[in-house]
Amino acid sequence: MGMARGRIQVRTESEIELLRTSSLLVGRTLAEVAKLIQPGVTTLELDRVAETFIRDHGAEPGFKGYNGFPATLCTSVNHHVVHGIPNDDPLQEGDIVSIDCGVLKEGYYGDSAYTFMVGEVKPEVRRLLKVTQECLEDAIEEAVAGNRIGDIGWAVQEHAEAEGYGVVRELVGHGVGSNLHEPPEVPNYGRPGNGVKLVAGMVLAIEPMINLGRKEVVQESDGWTIATADGLPSAHFEHDVVVREGKAEVLSTFKWIEEALGAVKLG
Ligand code: MG
Ligand code: MG
Repeated sequence: MGMARGRIQVRTESEIELLRTSSLLVGRTLAEVAKLIQPGVTTLELDRVAETFIRDHGAEPGFKGYNGFPATLCTSVNHHVVHGIPNDDPLQEGDIVSIDCGVLKEGYYGDSAYTFMVGEVKPEVRRLLKVTQECLEDAIEEAVAGNRIGDIGWAVQEHAEAEGYGVVRELVGHGVGSNLHEPPEVPNYGRPGNGVKLVAGMVLAIEPMINLGRKEVVQESDGWTIATADGLPSAHFEHDVVVREGKAEVLSTFKWIEEALGAVKLG
C-alpha cells in the first residue's frame, strides 16, 4: 500500500507490547468479520463492522486514509490478490475473500490478513488456502536472529512452487512499527543466506500472496486492486512477527478467527 520509510528498527520490549496490543486487536476484528462471512453479505457491510469494532476498542483503522485508501479493510475476492476496496457486491457461495486489516493504537500498528471461504469452496482452492497458510508458518520459522530476509522468502517460495503455484513478486511483507510499512522489505521469494540480516527485536509483517496459477499480477482501473493476470484465485495470510533468538514470536493471532469459523460450521 506504499513505500516503506525510515530505517530498520529494533524495538524495545515496551514497544513490542504496544505492537502486540494492536496486532491482537486486528485478530479480534477479523474474528468479528469471520462471524458474518456467508453468501449474500457484502464486503462493505464487513468493513462497517470492522471499523466500528476498532473504534470501540480505542483504536483507529490503520488503512483508512493511508495513501488515500478509502476503507478499513482490504477485501480481495477470488482473483483479486490484495488491496481490494469493499463494495456492495454480495459474496457468493464458492468465493474466497482475502481480508487484510490494520489498526493504529497508541502510536503502533497491527497488520494481519486471512483468506476466508464463502460456503463450499472447490477442493483445489481449499488446497491453495491451506498451502498459503503453511507458507506463512514455514516463513515464521525462519524469522530468527542471525538468519537473513532471503531465508524467509525462500521458505515461502519453496513450499508454494512445489505445489505449482505462482508467488507474487510485486508486493512484499515489511517491517511494522510506528509506521504501517517500514524497512526491511520481506519478499515471498529469495535465496537462502541472502539479504538483510535479522536482528532480535525487529518486527516483521510476513505475508505470502500465492496464486493458484501464474505469478503475474495486474492493477485494476480503481488504482488499488491487484488481480492475477490469468484470472485464477489468489490467497493471502499475514502475521506480525518479532525476530527472536532461536524462535520467532508471533504477535498477531488467528485463534479467534478459527473459533468463529468453527462455531459457524457447527451451527
Ligand atoms: Mg496487511
Ligand atoms: Mg502488511
